[in-house]
Amino acid sequence: MLIADVAVPVPLAKPFSYEIPAALAASVAPGARVLCDFGRRQLMGIVLTVEEREPAPGVSYKPLRAVVEATPVVSAELLGFLRALSSYYFAPIGAVLRLALPAVEKRSVERLEGQGELLSASALSGTKRVASALEWVASATERLEAPGSLRGQARELLAWLRATGPTPVARLEDRFSNARAASKRLEGLGLVKLERSERAVAPWFTESVERDAPPELTTAQQQAVSRISASIRGERDVRGFLLFGVTGSGKTEVYLHAIAQALARGRGAIVMVPEIALTPQLVSRFRARFGDDVAIIHSQLGERARHEMHRRLVSGTVRAAIGARSALFAPVASLGLVIVDEEHDSSFKQEEGVRYHARDMALLRAHRAGATVVLGSATPSAESYELTRKGKLEMIRLPDRARREAALPDVTVVDLKRVGAGPSGHKMLTLPLHRALDATLAKGEQAIIFLNRRGHSPTIVCGSCGHVATCKACSVALTFHQRRGRGDLQGSVKCHYCGYEDSVPEACDECGASAILLEGLGTEKLEETISAAFAGARVGRLDRDVADGGRAERVLEQMRRRELDILVGTQMVTKGHDFSHVTLVGVVNADAALNLPDFRAGERSFQLLVQVAGRAGRSDLPGKVLIQTYSPAHPAIELAKLHDVEAFLARELADRKETRYPPFARLALVRVDAMDLPVAERAATALAARARRTPAGQAGHVEVLGPAPAPLARLRGRYRYRVLLRAEDRGPLRAVLAAIEAEIELLDRRVRAVIDVDPVSML
Ligand code: ADP
Ligand code: ZN
Repeated sequence: MLIADVAVPVPLAKPFSYEIPAALAASVAPGARVLCDFGRRQLMGIVLTVEEREPAPGVSYKPLRAVVEATPVVSAELLGFLRALSSYYFAPIGAVLRLALPAVEKRSVERLEGQGELLSASALSGTKRVASALEWVASATERLEAPGSLRGQARELLAWLRATGPTPVARLEDRFSNARAASKRLEGLGLVKLERSERAVAPWFTESVERDAPPELTTAQQQAVSRISASIRGERDVRGFLLFGVTGSGKTEVYLHAIAQALARGRGAIVMVPEIALTPQLVSRFRARFGDDVAIIHSQLGERARHEMHRRLVSGTVRAAIGARSALFAPVASLGLVIVDEEHDSSFKQEEGVRYHARDMALLRAHRAGATVVLGSATPSAESYELTRKGKLEMIRLPDRARREAALPDVTVVDLKRVGAGPSGHKMLTLPLHRALDATLAKGEQAIIFLNRRGHSPTIVCGSCGHVATCKACSVALTFHQRRGRGDLQGSVKCHYCGYEDSVPEACDECGASAILLEGLGTEKLEETISAAFAGARVGRLDRDVADGGRAERVLEQMRRRELDILVGTQMVTKGHDFSHVTLVGVVNADAALNLPDFRAGERSFQLLVQVAGRAGRSDLPGKVLIQTYSPAHPAIELAKLHDVEAFLARELADRKETRYPPFARLALVRVDAMDLPVAERAATALAARARRTPAGQAGHVEVLGPAPAPLARLRGRYRYRVLLRAEDRGPLRAVLAAIEAEIELLDRRVRAVIDVDPVSML
């Protein structure tokens, strides 16, 4: 009997077997999409294998219903990789396939529905649209308002809409502080129409970009390119590189040449970057070199654009893809090169659903495809650095900045224990920082000020009893966010984890005193403080709140055009930006990230400091960096001051070896949560006990730590526990995880338990 093993989009680990009817035998192949009966539903699945075999006695298989399209939607290379990924992470193959496929082509679903073949349109990857790709758009109607009936912003907003045409509400909010309320009111009067529409495709995907000519490479770049190119041409056995180049050393130019080499050999390329919305400039450099030969994979692409891109990549009309971590799954044909830019960035780890690490999996996909892989960073991760020491990756160094005039900036550490407030009176705007900003503004240059907290005031505290307001659903403090253009206490409190939002409490929950104080410093308040201290300076802000409003590109563009003098922001300001007039970088408080309960806290702080410092002095103007801290002697700070990445890595690796953490041990985290604390605790205890009972657990080949409450003990109303597994080798760890996976199936239905292999977030 001819049998197909099919992955269906249900969260079950195993594929299901179906009989292939004779009529379909010719068109069913691995990677093809098929319709099959599943319980009482029909689902669309992907064929994994086709095989002639006899079912076990007493077992019968249902026949496949239909083949959706004759050509496989997933190539053998990609399918094999997805199966390897699914196995590595103990993730259901159906869920993994869902990551790799664009939403099912509507048309083919409609066609099948029309033929009565498709009873349920629930298909791989679903047809649900991502909320973030949708937005409200306001447009003026033909109707005229009664004379004098409108006042204030409503009136201005309407006039604006009449003049400029339909505008997303998020855009209007840049201009009118009351945009949301005003447009609702205008809608009520029938003067404005509000429509939910798909967000426009990012401009760089449709706009044509002027082609550029490559600059003459520096000697170091040349050597890097020739070593990588020889690998792509198959003239060398080395297939993996760590491109360790200081900030501004011109890594992008090396990537561009490597891609050109791959394309010239008729092979495709994938480029992964941390966050595509923050790197429009980088993306446009790829477009400028390769034009339409590069597809931009973007979460804000509409369904149709996504399909179109998928189709062009599969057919090989477009041969290179660039995107954030999901570009890992791009169906690039004949893959010859995979690049991971800023490989140390933790956004490459997906923290929900299939918890994969795109950098680690880039190594796997490239290896399986026989492709060359380049990991690039100014601050390589301890893991990648160790791979070079073990000879698994070849190290390529770019020790100097690419532009001859550019030098690494001078770094000064400001000890917050000794140095007090400057003229603004705010403790965090110290005298040295104030003076440095003054000097920068006087020269007409730009500054970036980095602070790790968003919102206005991250602590809402009772002045009478000292109680700190926390979220009712999470064990997390609430943050005060200000409403634009209002005075103190006008705004709301928010939980940054569950999205809970409420007005500022009038009285303390604990003692009832009406003595609520807003304390601490977030980016909103910093923006306000700096604006007040430097009258006339144009201050902008970039953080998650700005980015979620779709305004990140705008702010970056203003910065590039020098319409802003000072940019205040969170991690987002540290990423790869290349602004030639930024000569001052200030780190308001370097300690925030140092003290997290995570073995990577020191490494992350160090990377952040070096990266943000790397935004200064990238062109011919010399740069200066001020790092404010309460712990000036911390090695992460001392070595960041010296730009000594390798000394830091050597220290860090010695530490990790001694404490037996990655890359010298393998970790897996079993995360358990439930609405009831005892239910979660019992489940975690059962899983830990199961792990200890396995042969590898008993022999001590796998260490079982816990169960213990997670550092964030409660999130979204669920109590969280975890069990940490640690082993020297992957084999025994996998054996224990397999036992845990089976045990999870038997748990109380109220419990959610997931396996996180090679965890990144320890919270
Ligand atoms: P990195 O990614 O290593 O931080 P970039 O690739 O952004 O560095 O390059 C830093 C700057 O140097 C950019 O403005 C880039 O245009 C410039 N640059 C790169 N290579 C060269 C070169 N060979 N000659 C002159 N300028 C270069
Ligand atoms: Zn919350």
